[in-house]
Amino acid sequence: MTRQPEIPARLPRVSLRSPETGRRLTFRRDTAFHHALRERIEGYFRTSGRPPRDCWQLYVKTAVFFAGFAAAYVLLVFVAHTWAQALALAVLLGLFTAGIGFNVQHDGGHQAYSQSRWVNTLMAMALELLGGSTYVWRWKHGVFHHTYVNITGHDTDIDLGILARLTPHQRRLRVHRWQHLYLWGLYGLLVIKWQLVGDFRKLISGRMGTRAFPRPKGRDLAIFVAGKVVFFLLAFGIPLGFHSIGVVLCYYGVAGLVAGILLSVVFQVAHCVEEVAFPVPHASTDHIDRAWAIHQAETTADFARGNRVIAWLVGGLNLQIEHHLFPRISHVHYPALSPLVEQTCREFGVRYTAFESFRAGLISHFRWLRRMGTSDTHDVTATHDQRFTGTRLRAGDSAGPARGRASGRSPELSWDAPTGEQ
Ligand SMILES: [Zn+2]
Repeated sequence: MTRQPEIPARLPRVSLRSPETGRRLTFRRDTAFHHALRERIEGYFRTSGRPPRDCWQLYVKTAVFFAGFAAAYVLLVFVAHTWAQALALAVLLGLFTAGIGFNVQHDGGHQAYSQSRWVNTLMAMALELLGGSTYVWRWKHGVFHHTYVNITGHDTDIDLGILARLTPHQRRLRVHRWQHLYLWGLYGLLVIKWQLVGDFRKLISGRMGTRAFPRPKGRDLAIFVAGKVVFFLLAFGIPLGFHSIGVVLCYYGVAGLVAGILLSVVFQVAHCVEEVAFPVPHASTDHIDRAWAIHQAETTADFARGNRVIAWLVGGLNLQIEHHLFPRISHVHYPALSPLVEQTCREFGVRYTAFESFRAGLISHFRWLRRMGTSDTHDVTATHDQRFTGTRLRAGDSAGPARGRASGRSPELSWDAPTGEQ
C-alpha cells in the first residue's frame, strides 16, 4: 500500500502538552493490536486491488453534492418567489452543506481523498465555502479531537464550556440537569456559531477550549481571511442585492440550523454515548494505560453499519471506529473494513461498540446527556447491552494480549494516524 507523507505540511511545531500539567500525554506502548489491524487492512487492499484514495465513487459523489449545493443556492437566491419554495430550498441548502462537510471536506482534511496533496487541500477548502476555516479545523478536529478522543481537557470536541457536561470528569452545574432537553437546540447553532463568531474568537485568543494553538500566519492567514470574505459574500452580500435583510437572515438561519443539527448529532452519537470510554490520564504521569489504537476503538461507536444509504449520505461517519483507526483511508472503504476491524477487536478483547440503528445511537446520546446532567457518577462502564453488538469489556478489564512496556510517545505518526499531530 502506498503511504502518505508522515507529517502534513503547514502545521507549525507546537508541543501538545497537557494544559494543566505541562506534560505530554502518552499512551501505552503496545502496537500488537494496531499491527494486526494494519496487516488485515493491507490484505484487503492487496486482494481487492482497490486504491485506498482517489476512488471514483467519491469523485462522483463530490460532483453530486456540489451540483446540489449550487442548484439549491441559485434557486433560493434568484428564483424562489414563495416562502414555501424558499423554505424547502433553504433546508436543502443545509442538507447539502452538511453533505459536503461529511463527504468531501472531511476526507480532504484527513488527506484521505486523494494521493495528491493539492487535491486534498482543495477538497478540504470546501470548508471555507461553507463558512468555516480549514486551519482551525485541522487543529480542532485533526489534532485535538483525533489524537485525544474523549480525554477531558485534551479533546476540544467534548468541551462545550458551561453549556454542557459531556464527560464524567467535567464539573456539573445546576443548569446541566436540563441539558438532555436544551442541548438539541444549541446543536442547531453550531454551524452559525463557527461561521459568525467561533473562528474569529479562536483566531484572536489563540485558544480553543482549554487548549492553546498557534494563530495562522502567512498563507494560512490569507486563506482564512479570503475564505471568510467569500462566505460572507455568498451568504449575505449577493442575497442582500435581491432580498430584504429579514428574508436573508431568516433563510440563512434555516440552512444553518439544518446543517448544525446534522453535523453535531452524527459526531455526538459516535463519542458521547453510554457505551464508550472516557479515559483519564494517570495523575502523576499523564499516561493513558491503553495503546493508542485501542483507545481510539474504545472511545468511539459505529451505528447502522449495514445501511449503505446512511453510509453514503454521512460520508462513512456512521463507521467512526474505522475512521478513527484509519483516517487517511477514503471513507468509501469503511463498510468493507468494518468486519475486519470488529473481528480484530474481538480477538484482542477490545471493546467494539456498534448501534444497530441511528435511532439507537441517538437514544444512548440522550441518556448519556441526562446521566451527566443529573449525576456526579464517574462510573463509565457500559450497561445497556441490548443495543450493543460486538465484544465489550468493562472499563477496567484487560486489553487483551497487551505487552505493555514503559510509557512512550503515542504512535501518532504512523501513516494511518491523525493528520495533524507533531
Ligand atoms: Zn475525522
